[in-house]
Amino acid sequence: MLEQLIKDSQALDRALAGEELSYNDGLELMNYDNLHLLAAVADDARKKLVGEIVTFAASYYMNYTNVCAASCQMCAFYRKDGADDAYTLTPQEIEQRVGIAQQMGATEVHIVGGFHPKLPLEYYEDMMKLIKKNHPQLNIKALTAAEIFYLSKLTKNSTKEVLSRLKSAGLDSMPGGGAELFHPDVRSKIARGKCTGQQWLDVIEEAHGMGINSNVTMLYGHIEKPEHIVDHLIKIRELQKKTRGFLTLIPLKFSLDNTELEQEHLVNNECSSVYDLKIIALSRLMLANVLNNISVYWVAYGKKLAQVALSNGGNDLVGTAFSEEVYRAAGKPTASSVEELATMVKEIGRSPAQRNTHFKVLRTF
Ligand code: SF4
Repeated sequence: MLEQLIKDSQALDRALAGEELSYNDGLELMNYDNLHLLAAVADDARKKLVGEIVTFAASYYMNYTNVCAASCQMCAFYRKDGADDAYTLTPQEIEQRVGIAQQMGATEVHIVGGFHPKLPLEYYEDMMKLIKKNHPQLNIKALTAAEIFYLSKLTKNSTKEVLSRLKSAGLDSMPGGGAELFHPDVRSKIARGKCTGQQWLDVIEEAHGMGINSNVTMLYGHIEKPEHIVDHLIKIRELQKKTRGFLTLIPLKFSLDNTELEQEHLVNNECSSVYDLKIIALSRLMLANVLNNISVYWVAYGKKLAQVALSNGGNDLVGTAFSEEVYRAAGKPTASSVEELATMVKEIGRSPAQRNTHFKVLRTF
């Protein structure tokens, strides 16, 4: 049926046949204007690869500090050290909050923060040891590859040494943040002060090699061009073929409010929902058979658009995401219970399942 509808796209033909898409195929699909057909092929691939289940985790999001030595043009969260509203939590404060989150049913803690110029490696070790000691069942998903890179420069340890010490202290997995877009032409204009795309990939490859699995993100909807999206997806695919360490791709819609990109009028509007859906569909098709979890970050989309995105290639909702200060800084709502996410999935005729960090199903509804 779909074969008969596709008349004008060799890339879509190849995608439907389950073939690996090339860079040029990716570009063709980014510029393809029949979203319905693109979505139908992506949804078909999703069905074949992962079936009808839509997963989500019970996550607690924690930002240990908003102090940051970088000043990314796409960020509304960072503060300079000494600013009135700058904060840094102590390991004890973090552990207390994590304890409450566990009582509320969280199975993982997602801990990220700014590049704090004064916190020593021991701060992070103490934080993780304290959490592990008191909450051994919780998966500690902490510090992006960009934070690890910064910490290595700050403390004059190799990234491998930093990862190894944190792993010994309790680090179980890593979030996918800081990936932004790997392409240097766009990265330097949105993520000033952050490691390069290649450095991010190198750190995450090291982590995967040490048994620390991670997510990976893709920040879109700002100043990028189609080739930057395709480049990013292919780099993820190539590394995943080597390490098999990525758990999911989380495309992140750029949130405009309070960022330098907005203030400098480099981006005046957030991208359209049509573009959001194209990104989800393309992610599914470019990564098919290599990374089969494509997450829909409902916090950024809102629940209604998230439901549509799940019908455009997505199969995961990330998680409950309560207390997510980074998005809140840009004015997005961030709390929802496991039951609400399950209802959202049932409303579109799919099967909700709570998962752990590693995508093992813990509970169905
Ligand atoms: S995105 Fe991260 S590294 Fe960049 S300014 Fe914000 S907190 Fe700092």
